[in-house]
Amino acid sequence: MDSWDALKTECSSCRACPLCEGRHNLVFGVGNEQADLMFIGEGPGEQEDLQGVPFVGPAGKLLDSMLEMIDLDRSMIYIANMVKCRPPNNRDPQGAEIAACRSWLDRQISLVDPKLIVCLGRISATALIREDFRITREHGRWFDLGSRRILATFHPSALLRDPSRRPEAFMDLREIRKEYRALKSSHNL
Ligand code: SF4
Repeated sequence: MDSWDALKTECSSCRACPLCEGRHNLVFGVGNEQADLMFIGEGPGEQEDLQGVPFVGPAGKLLDSMLEMIDLDRSMIYIANMVKCRPPNNRDPQGAEIAACRSWLDRQISLVDPKLIVCLGRISATALIREDFRITREHGRWFDLGSRRILATFHPSALLRDPSRRPEAFMDLREIRKEYRALKSSHNL
């Protein structure tokens, strides 16, 4: 049976893809390890690589504000990325890197066992929902992923680059809050 200790220890020394060469820190994941809601981004940026924590820096601050808007904070969710080591110059992680890193993420998902997953951006949505997923057209909709439900919204970095997307992202957040509240009230029945 898997455990967080085993997973963290094994993952910390991973050299399964070339991204290990440039990392200062492997960015494993953070948050509530029994959360009902898990957020999955792309990969660490510069600050994340330096601090070893996902979603710090400007995109992280925006993510915190987004969570606050829907009455959540980091203690209530779990956050991870598709790849745990920083791609050079903040480029998108490549397919082979995502594939090499996938087993770590799958084990995180199994251990957290969230009922709801939110993909932050195109990279995690195409990896976890559907290869041809179009974030601009299909964001904000729930899909089934086995026994879980999964939705994609814009990555905070994309919202920093293109603030015109923020109203759409806000609608997605409202949808996440609605589903999360329904889940919590069903637990209390
Ligand atoms: S990105 Fe993932 S697969 Fe590649 S070295 Fe880092 S932890 Fe291992």
